[in-house]
Amino acid sequence: MSQQNLWKDKKGPRPRHGQLVLGELPAGLRLSVPEAQALHRAMEERLGAVVLILTDNRRRMVSARRVGQRIEIRAHHMFVGCASEVVDALATLAQRAPGVEAARACIRAYIAQNRDTIRFDVDEERLQALGEHHDLQAMLDRWRARFPVEALNDIVITWGRYGRGRRSIRFGSFDFDRRLIRIHPVLDQAWVPDYFVEFVVYHELLHALFPPRQLANRRVVHTRSFREMEERFPRYAEAMAWEQRNLPRLLER
Ligand SMILES: [Zn+2]
Repeated sequence: MSQQNLWKDKKGPRPRHGQLVLGELPAGLRLSVPEAQALHRAMEERLGAVVLILTDNRRRMVSARRVGQRIEIRAHHMFVGCASEVVDALATLAQRAPGVEAARACIRAYIAQNRDTIRFDVDEERLQALGEHHDLQAMLDRWRARFPVEALNDIVITWGRYGRGRRSIRFGSFDFDRRLIRIHPVLDQAWVPDYFVEFVVYHELLHALFPPRQLANRRVVHTRSFREMEERFPRYAEAMAWEQRNLPRLLER
């Protein structure tokens, strides 16, 4: 893929309706289809054309991205039948409208109240994209909207856990097998600017776009095209400078 194409915006007439997709739900799941349709209608009243994909995915309860002229929302089926204030919150989150913090709080509360009704897999790593201060899913979704390529469709993101040893730190990692981005929890602090976390997410995402290259005697993870693309991050110089200034403080905790 050429880099130019990645940055191009699509334009065209705006469709009026999207669709409700139930095909991703497991066969045995019982769900009220009229209520699912009502949720889809309610989303379209607020957002215009919406493709609403109901999922059984506990790792990503909600995510939204623009696909052409529609908004594609993937939401856990627990949202079927939710109150209109929760629908409002989902809509606010989907369009990153003002009040997005309150919307997240509302959705978090709804998830907490309804968590018991969800199937639980013990051996699944607990993935958590919504931090105290930074929402990794929102960041991932923004980059996805910007780079609408298949290589990013199945990427999952989570805050990592605190490990031992604070003399060095890895802000992020990309697990190629699990298609999983982990971000170091030390970055989930109020004084860490959004653009820096976003830069780390961007770096890890580029690993999915620019896979390592195997040379005769070594493996190059950060290839030249990787580095070139990394430097195209809108606040690259600022992010670099911020990291230098604040690394000691990040290692301190
Ligand atoms: Zn890297």
